[in-house]
Amino acid sequence: MQHGRYPTAQLLQIHDQCFLIDCGEGTQDRLKHYTNRWFKINFIFISHLHGDHYFGLIGLLTTYNLLKRTDRLTIYGPPELEKIIQIQLDVSATKLNYPLYFISTEDKQLNKLLDTNSVEVYSFPLDHKIPTTGFLFKEKKYKRRLNIDKIIKLDINNKKYKLLQDGLDIEDEYGNPYKNEDLTFEPKPARKYAFCSDTKYNESIIPYIENVDVLYHEATFMEDAKKRAEETKHSTAIDAATIAQKANAKKLYIGHYSSRYKDLEPLLQEAKSIFEATYLSYEGLTISI
Ligand SMILES: [Zn+2]
Ligand SMILES: [Zn+2]
Repeated sequence: MQHGRYPTAQLLQIHDQCFLIDCGEGTQDRLKHYTNRWFKINFIFISHLHGDHYFGLIGLLTTYNLLKRTDRLTIYGPPELEKIIQIQLDVSATKLNYPLYFISTEDKQLNKLLDTNSVEVYSFPLDHKIPTTGFLFKEKKYKRRLNIDKIIKLDINNKKYKLLQDGLDIEDEYGNPYKNEDLTFEPKPARKYAFCSDTKYNESIIPYIENVDVLYHEATFMEDAKKRAEETKHSTAIDAATIAQKANAKKLYIGHYSSRYKDLEPLLQEAKSIFEATYLSYEGLTISI
């Protein structure tokens, strides 16, 4: 931990589902400190196998076991992760009392990882020293909203409501036709969140994250360390802001700051010079999208 900053981990809640994105050292401790929802995590997404993104995983898995978890847990990550966790469990003769599943990610193209009632999750390739993916969380489309005042006046049978919500035109009891848009309003817009873990500046990422409501993008360095960013395949604040701008993101949260920066304000200002709606992510920050 440097300057009160722990390695990467984010808890994302979409409706009643909780997702953990990356699990750096100390994650379980931080989760317990900030939320009682950490026990509800059923899906974990690991971007790559640098320690600052997954060294907290075995601790979390074994703590769940000690606390008698029985719910299924699915981990998405690079293929080697399954072997790493399996060895750790084997050598300590740990037998988990909950079902644990691994699904391998690969870093060549966009892949759909998960499809639930409320969300679709995709991985997409980033450009880092080792195979690394970002993750895109897409809320499912909402149904159209009924114009109840109008519908009640027209005396339309409530059996037709579902058709209207699904966007279909209907007829009333007497066969009079009604256009869907006359009886419904546009649905609430579905939200999108993208997580860009460690990566150098690469415009090929843009198509995967276009029009997201919130983009998290690493910004390890400032312009003063541009060369270092290139060597280590990380981004600068300007890089992250340029990606956010070109992808037409609504908001950008930056993070993964190098320990050389104690004060993050100059980093934020550099990003804001390109993309105004930039914010710093920090330990314990909660946002709603
Ligand atoms: Zn890394
Ligand atoms: Zn990292």
